[in-house]
Amino acid sequence: MAIEREIAGMRCGEVLAELSDYLDGDLTKARSAQVEAHLHGCDVCERFGSAFASAIQTLRHSGLGFGVADSTVFERLHARLGKATQE
Ligand SMILES: [Zn+2]
Repeated sequence: MAIEREIAGMRCGEVLAELSDYLDGDLTKARSAQVEAHLHGCDVCERFGSAFASAIQTLRHSGLGFGVADSTVFERLHARLGKATQE
C-alpha cells in the first residue's frame, strides 16, 4: 500500500489487522474505540471496513443467525394464520 496514514494513534495496517477482532467485539473497549476513531478519520479504512463488515454479516446471516431469525418469523406467521382461521 502506498499510503499508510496514522490516525488516532493507529496506522492503517494495524487497523486492518484488528478489523476482524473489532467486528467480533474481541478488542478491549479502549482498543475498539481507537479503531473506531481511525475508521471515522480515514476514508480508506472506512470504505474497506464497511465492505468487510457487510461481507461478514452476509456470512453470519447464511449460518446459524439466519436459522434463528427464520424460525421466529415462521412462528409469527403460524400464530397469525392460526388466529385468522379461528376468527
Ligand atoms: Zn486507515
